[in-house]
Amino acid sequence: PPAVIALDGPSGSGKSSTARGVATRLGLAYLDTGAMYRAMTWAVLERGVDVEDAAAVAAAAADVVIVSGTDPQAPTIEADGVDVSGPIRSQRVTDAVSQVSRVPEVRQRLVDLQRDIIAASDGIVLEGRDIGTVVAPDAPLKLYLVADTAARAARRAAEEGRSEAAHVEATAASLQRRDAIDSSRTASPLAKAADALELDTTHLTLDEVVDEVVRLAAK
Ligand code: C5P
Repeated sequence: PPAVIALDGPSGSGKSSTARGVATRLGLAYLDTGAMYRAMTWAVLERGVDVEDAAAVAAAAADVVIVSGTDPQAPTIEADGVDVSGPIRSQRVTDAVSQVSRVPEVRQRLVDLQRDIIAASDGIVLEGRDIGTVVAPDAPLKLYLVADTAARAARRAAEEGRSEAAHVEATAASLQRRDAIDSSRTASPLAKAADALELDTTHLTLDEVVDEVVRLAAK
């Protein structure tokens, strides 16, 4: 079976940059499963579906085609043949993604797709919420990244090029709202796998976190 590194944790814990850095250093593929849930959300909104209506979301999601490119230096994401890498970062999608992600049919489709991508790879780093618990429970290395809400909000805002205090505060509130929904859903809660190693990135630089994961992968 291909080498799999599972990187889970809440939004803004540094998963994306870490996963891409580790995959690049180790010559592995990279999959951002959050981008897949965001792409599904974009497509569901595009169809005019009310995301509070789980049955309607499940029905709409059934025929959405999601395609992920797994180059860590240039990841891509398409929904129904459209490049959605920009739109999936919009506030509209961010506000709706937790509702769409809690629908079991959506999760089943995307988990199946993620497992196909793992099987077709020669080794891959996956980032998400349920990689170590659901998608790849046999992964030999599982990390669970955490960071203070303030640190997570500051990073997210900096990524957006908007570090003004009001925006950082709004980002912190949005992160906390998503964390609450993500950890309360029953289908597949945001949870640390029993055998995952927890890494607190609050006071670490990206390079320090990547070094640590690469060191653990070599063991
Ligand atoms: O990682 P990111 O913040 O882009 O994820 C967006 C949303 O996608 C999360 O808030 C969560 O609702 C959902 N998600 C999920 N399972 C995953 C990855 C993301 O439910 N494996």
